[in-house]
Amino acid sequence: MIGFWRRSFEGLSRAATSRAGFLVLSSLWLFVPYFILNSGQHRLLVRGMAVLFVLLAVLLGMASRGIYVLFGLAILLLNAVYVHLKYHWGLELSESRFEAAFSGEFSETLEYCRIYFGSPEIVFFLYGIAALYLIYRTCRSPGFSRRARIVAGLLLLPLLALLFFVRGPAMHFPPVFLVKDVFEAKSRLGQIAERAAIVRAVQSQPRACPEGYEKIVIVIGESALRDRMSLYGYPLETTPFLDSLRPYRFDGLAGANQTRYAVPLLLTHASVGDFQEFFSTPSLVSELKACGYETWWISNQGGPGIGETYVESIADEADHQRFMSSLDYVRIGYDGKIVDTLGRYLTGDTRKQAFFLHLRGSHFDYQERYPSDFALKPGVDVVSQYDNTIYYTDHILSEIFGRLDSATVNMSDGRGLLFAYASDHGEVVSDTLHGHGFFPGFKEEYRIPMIFWTRRPRGDSLQAGAEGRTVNEESFAGMIEYLTGMKDHPDLSFSSEVISLAPENIQDYNRLKSAFSQP
Ligand SMILES: [Zn+2]
Repeated sequence: MIGFWRRSFEGLSRAATSRAGFLVLSSLWLFVPYFILNSGQHRLLVRGMAVLFVLLAVLLGMASRGIYVLFGLAILLLNAVYVHLKYHWGLELSESRFEAAFSGEFSETLEYCRIYFGSPEIVFFLYGIAALYLIYRTCRSPGFSRRARIVAGLLLLPLLALLFFVRGPAMHFPPVFLVKDVFEAKSRLGQIAERAAIVRAVQSQPRACPEGYEKIVIVIGESALRDRMSLYGYPLETTPFLDSLRPYRFDGLAGANQTRYAVPLLLTHASVGDFQEFFSTPSLVSELKACGYETWWISNQGGPGIGETYVESIADEADHQRFMSSLDYVRIGYDGKIVDTLGRYLTGDTRKQAFFLHLRGSHFDYQERYPSDFALKPGVDVVSQYDNTIYYTDHILSEIFGRLDSATVNMSDGRGLLFAYASDHGEVVSDTLHGHGFFPGFKEEYRIPMIFWTRRPRGDSLQAGAEGRTVNEESFAGMIEYLTGMKDHPDLSFSSEVISLAPENIQDYNRLKSAFSQP
């Protein structure tokens, strides 16, 4: 009996250390991550694809060692990206990560590595060493006979045909979609670069803003769900300042559930149905500049290198930009920094100034968004922490408004200020599920506040035009154009079309599910 096991073991180890054994082992090892780490909804498909790719690797290894080495190294590189994205960002963000990687500077890349190099990378490093050793041993073993190489080459043809045939579902196989995302991110960055040139050409044409505000402030919120604001009926007093301000209040419908598409929908003429418009037209920033405003973009979200390249493209249109946050995605400072910066550049004279303030607002991790003395609810649960972010944002809005109001109180008979606030998108908030950017989206991701404050009569007519209806965020730029007098009609959109994750995924808000029942 013992003899049998010993002979079997010796036989197996001889097989494993033969030239075919090393080839099969190294090919299998290259795709191990997709057998053990993958737990998504396409689990079976990914594993099936992994089997096909193991077969592909073995045939390549038999046919040509040079091609095998190149193929193995490419897969190893993609595996590193896969493991890294999966553990730090979630794979659905891969395209935006590539955009960030291609647009970032080297010093930022180093900083990034310092923050995001952890235990998954160390485990992967050891895995990679083993993979390199197996590839090396495969190539050190004696080559296959000419006949075996020809047979392998011939078998490759039907396999490649099969892979071509299943290329649709294969898009769920990480090495395939990571490559696709790299190309898409590259082409998107190219489009954004072209946008800058187009915008510059249009910017030189002057416009008129006959309503003549001295100061305009447009605050872009982050992940604020209006159902959690007392201004919109939430029973807990989370927005005491806005409650007392009594602004023009609209039931806003976000056009997208991700910042990078939602902010362009708010500030440009891109719409849910035609997002491409973003790449060829300037934003409100340029329009106000053309009306003679000194334009400022002050942001507590990432500057270049953090993946919001769409938003940066808009920020670049401003005369001045200030990015408050460092690269650290989680531990950035509170939005209070924006108020201090605003205070530095806001002038008390009648110089026309337009401020675009991009908050960090209620973005997860919620407890990192407010100082502890702004905890309206002391609870450590996710829902309480989220409510506290709304409460703190209300405080920030009161500080911003206070500064602008006192600067303009003596201008245009006290009618010198236009104040606007809208969140980019909403948020799913519960103890079991929270966040945004789901596919398909949940209703809560699209329910945003849209608020305007002005003492001029156009505010009343704007409000009357939307009485009792939900306004799609793609109207926001037109509403500002109307309030400033750039246009005579706000062209409100009551469309229920929304984007989930990416512009090609247009859905009907009315058909989306609620993640849970509202309080
Ligand atoms: Zn956002």
